[in-house]
Amino acid sequence: MPNLEINQLIDHTFSLQKSKSISLRESSSQHRIKQLENLSGWIKNHHEDIRKAIHADFKKPYPEIDITEIFVVTSEIKNAIKNLQDWMKPKKVSTPLTLLGTSSYIQYEPKGTSLIIAPWNYPFNLAIGPLISALAAGCNAIIKPSEMTPHASALIRRMIEELFEPDTVAVFEGDLEVSQHLLSKPFDHIFFTGSPSVGKIIMKAAAENLTSVTLELGGKSPAIIDKDIDLQDAAAKVAWGKFVNCGQTCIAPDYILVHSDVQSEFVNALRNELHKMYDPHKKGIENSSDYARIVNDKHLNRLSYLLSDAISKGAKIDFGGRILPKDNYFEPTLLTAITENMDVSQEEIFGPILPIIAYNKTDDAISYLNSRPKPLALYAFSNNQEVIDSILLQTSSGGVVANDCVIHFLHHDLPFGGVNNSGIGKAHGHHGFLAFSNEKAILKQRKGLTSSKSLYPPYGFAGKKI
Ligand code: NAD
Repeated sequence: MPNLEINQLIDHTFSLQKSKSISLRESSSQHRIKQLENLSGWIKNHHEDIRKAIHADFKKPYPEIDITEIFVVTSEIKNAIKNLQDWMKPKKVSTPLTLLGTSSYIQYEPKGTSLIIAPWNYPFNLAIGPLISALAAGCNAIIKPSEMTPHASALIRRMIEELFEPDTVAVFEGDLEVSQHLLSKPFDHIFFTGSPSVGKIIMKAAAENLTSVTLELGGKSPAIIDKDIDLQDAAAKVAWGKFVNCGQTCIAPDYILVHSDVQSEFVNALRNELHKMYDPHKKGIENSSDYARIVNDKHLNRLSYLLSDAISKGAKIDFGGRILPKDNYFEPTLLTAITENMDVSQEEIFGPILPIIAYNKTDDAISYLNSRPKPLALYAFSNNQEVIDSILLQTSSGGVVANDCVIHFLHHDLPFGGVNNSGIGKAHGHHGFLAFSNEKAILKQRKGLTSSKSLYPPYGFAGKKI
């Protein structure tokens, strides 16, 4: 479709949604629950279609699709349905002495027409997850999925067209031109998931209309491995967290900080785990159906460059390093002898390269973290509570997992999101509902009570201290 036509369709859909959003302010919990049940029903009935679409985009293994795309979405829906009445209930607040006689509460009003811009790496989960929060809050929404996963985007569009009228939920596929036109509209909320650099563009565009934003961004999430830990167990957890989805996960450990006393033992443990997970029959990891592919040539070239830049500056490959461009295959790769001038030390890797950096004291690891932008997630592996506590207290990140990684994404009651460079605002469960709600402050004066009138002029208390 030529862009002019898409732009006109966007304009039309946006004004339909804007008008509808006013009547949605009064939508009941039953209405919202019905929408969520329909969504859940569609997903259950089209499980195989979802698997096929995402697999067609980057050969993501079916079990990974089941867990990280379908299960997380259906359980988010279940949690919203279970708690929605509670979330929607006005929240009474107590009355200060100065306002004696009044009563006050917070009412959760839908923000209105929302824009959801999604990335490609979990194309279904990260487009539909925010939609669940938007629907729970009583908003309508336009979704812009990523152009890099066309099969998943087409499936999302089909699902939405089968379930919703365009005045309630609509999908516009396309690249940044479509995104830019959408961003010119005065949405009531924008929920963006993607890179920090595009996050800045989104925030600037939102500022033009003073639209509120939730920015779910990325960055370099570290994993710290203390010497007081079961290294094999830590290696298994890190290997899965890093190489699931072929390393293309916003909360994957981007790099490892390992205590120098156990560095080589930890690298060996990682090697063992990689063999166990992806090559148990010694047929080569490229033949494993449990390992996904890089999403496209552009990202394969970006990662190949990162690897060759690191090697040319002295990095050592401790595992992997093979690339098969025809298949967008990039072997799980462990790197040591890392220096600060390598691009892998500076840029978010977002792929299956894991730099491993040694430290001598916990304080050194903490200083290293504090000298860079605040990460989305931080993983701290130690049996020593003092080590965990000092990392928790002396660093800043969107979330922390002690002695595991990535699994905090699955917790409905934990706010999910970053801080500064890794994001603004939180998602999931009640936090997602709040992101799409205006917490409206309501104060009711009691009939006949006029205590506030004592504040009006003429000011009899002039000159007295109050
Ligand atoms: P991206 O920022 O390139 O693209 C995200 C979306 O923005 C896409 O739909 C894209 O079409 C659109 N877009 C791109 N350029 C644009 C522009 N100039 N103007 C308007 N829209 C534009 O991100 P990506 O490559 O799809 O995803 C990878 C990034 O997302 C990584 O940084 C990763 O860490 C982050 N991420 C964060 C989370 C999270 O929950 N915090 C989850 C997944 C990915």
